[in-house]
Amino acid sequence: MRSPEAAEQARRFVEICNACRYCEGYCAVFPAIELRRQFTSGDLAYLANLCHDCRGCYYSCQYAPPHEFALNLPKAFADLRLETYERYAWPRPLAALFRRNGLMASVLALLCTAIFVWLAKTPSPVTAGSESAGAFYAVISEGVMIAITGAAFLFAILAMAIGLLNFWRDTNSPPALDAPSLSAAFTDIFTLRNLGGGGNGCNNRNETYSQARRYFHHALFYGYLFCFASTCTAAIYEHIFGWISPYPLFSLPVLLGTIGGAAMLVGIAGLVLIKVTADPAPASRVLLHIDYCFLVLLFVAAATGLLLLALRGTAAMGALLAVHLGVIVSLFLTLPYCKFVHGIYRAAALLRYAAERPRRLQNTAAATQQVGA
Ligand code: SF4
Ligand code: SF4
Repeated sequence: MRSPEAAEQARRFVEICNACRYCEGYCAVFPAIELRRQFTSGDLAYLANLCHDCRGCYYSCQYAPPHEFALNLPKAFADLRLETYERYAWPRPLAALFRRNGLMASVLALLCTAIFVWLAKTPSPVTAGSESAGAFYAVISEGVMIAITGAAFLFAILAMAIGLLNFWRDTNSPPALDAPSLSAAFTDIFTLRNLGGGGNGCNNRNETYSQARRYFHHALFYGYLFCFASTCTAAIYEHIFGWISPYPLFSLPVLLGTIGGAAMLVGIAGLVLIKVTADPAPASRVLLHIDYCFLVLLFVAAATGLLLLALRGTAAMGALLAVHLGVIVSLFLTLPYCKFVHGIYRAAALLRYAAERPRRLQNTAAATQQVGA
């Protein structure tokens, strides 16, 4: 699982970059490299997750192939990212699932759907179809629905929290952060600022810049948050106000879910298109497979949710509910072992980067003094 070659190659490349420094202004990675003379495996894990795979450094590097150094930083970091996902995974034996994402997600989705079909109260869930309050619970009881989805969600949160703790410890990140560091990091996280490159965007296909990747990431990221907000609002409606689902089309949970689901579909379609048409040279093939699996699973989750909304008044409601719940539970169980963890480790890397700001300022001041002297 652990590949010393990936770390060794990344170490060799960042040492060359530290001497060259041509890409200094490209992204957060290069200022972080410049703070170091030696690179521990934790430092490399931090740098690999700080990289946003914009590929700008690949197309502007004078040492990229066919140069004998064959410097390919985006690919080296992508290979190393996969290694870090596996290294920090919990429980550890399940780390092997990262390389079997497609199989894991398909088997889980089929199994969870079969379980929900089996648990359906009606003899044939296909016959259920009603938009009246409590219609969903007439197919699958509320207790069963909450117990299964809740258990899968809590497991995912626990596994990812332990993974985050492992990352934080291994990268020697500070135990606490001050308010300015937190504010800077959260601005970067929520605006996806780094995906904008230095203002020009990413190099998806070649040397030309594009903001498309950032916009599609925004659609997926905020679409997912809208769907999460929809679920939370529905829980408040039900458990605080006693308003039982399904809700009308213009209610808050349905509006949030519809906007979120549609934004996710647009974001996923755009990101898949970018990946399919991208230059394969700076890409990691294994990580690309993991990217596709995660995007497909998210697409199916969003699409089945929208389909359930559109057809909830028909006889297909029961079957669609079982399929959607099966996909959602399999998504929760897959989250700690798929590309989703990239968002967590990247956010943690940005937090650490923000915490290093005083050291970067000191370095700049020292360099300015040297030039002046
Ligand atoms: S990627 Fe190439 S050009 Fe950029 S800093 Fe590294 S060695 Fe220099
Ligand atoms: S690919 Fe982009 S984000 Fe990654 S190191 Fe190169 S310039 Fe930085």
